[in-house]
Amino acid sequence: MSDFQETLFEGYGQRFQIDKLLHDVHTEHQHLVIFENARMGRVMALDGVVQTSEADEFIYHEMLAHVPILAHGLARRVLIIGGGDGGVLREVARHRDIESITMVEIDDTVVQTCKEFLPNHSAGTFDDPRLKLVIADGMHFVTSTEEKFDVIISDSTDPIGPAEVLFSERFYQACRRCLNDGGILVTQNGTPFMQLGEVQTTAKRLHGLFADWHFYQAAVPTYLGGAMAFAWGACNAESRKLPLETLLQRFVGSGIVTRYYNPHVHIAAFALPQYVLHAIAKPSND
Ligand code: SAM
Repeated sequence: MSDFQETLFEGYGQRFQIDKLLHDVHTEHQHLVIFENARMGRVMALDGVVQTSEADEFIYHEMLAHVPILAHGLARRVLIIGGGDGGVLREVARHRDIESITMVEIDDTVVQTCKEFLPNHSAGTFDDPRLKLVIADGMHFVTSTEEKFDVIISDSTDPIGPAEVLFSERFYQACRRCLNDGGILVTQNGTPFMQLGEVQTTAKRLHGLFADWHFYQAAVPTYLGGAMAFAWGACNAESRKLPLETLLQRFVGSGIVTRYYNPHVHIAAFALPQYVLHAIAKPSND
């Protein structure tokens, strides 16, 4: 039985036993493998970095979708950058009031392969009539589109290779341009314990661009190094300060049954540890 050794961090990493190799292909953009692991279910990796596993993807995709959409309260148009496995699409599509979902994914092979080998991630939502799937570079899309969105979700790989541009100042500026009044941007921003520099860089790039910026966290076992950070950029500073009652009303009203997200977790997720607050130069009462 062979192993998958993640290569994200020099000298430190995680190993998955490959119980069955399901797919291994060099796409136009990256090296894609999908394999079965007895403990984590089906696992996908891109360029040696674990992207998602069936066992815990619900944590990541629920937090990436429901936090901004329920905080916004009136979201109708959502843009997903990346997200080719379909997990965040599935969670966004559960919101009945969302009228339009645009997904801009650079690698069509990821979409097609995940439809086949990770069908529970998208759960058929690639056929949702509200979806417009655009196979393109997310950076090019946000810098050239005339469309506006209420929520933008960047569910990209790490800032190496094709996703490097999705962590640039120009990308965040373009996302800000594409947001309606009251709009919210959230992004995958790595695990602060292992990638604190990425959080610091994003903080500097969001500062001054949004009325409110911060990070929220969730521990996703598949993402090595502790809690995963999600960057938050909101056009309305009140979006992060909603009372629990409001979030509870919206959550119950959505009729969505979750396995990880709830309004208490939503609020708690924005409480950051001192070392992260210090790194992003924020007071502990922010
Ligand atoms: N949940 C994963 C994580 O936290 O790392 C991300 C999963 S999703 C598979 C990441 C997607 O971002 C991939 O499908 C990849 O092709 C896509 N991607 C990378 N760079 C991109 C770009 N510049 N524009 C659009 N999609 C991009």
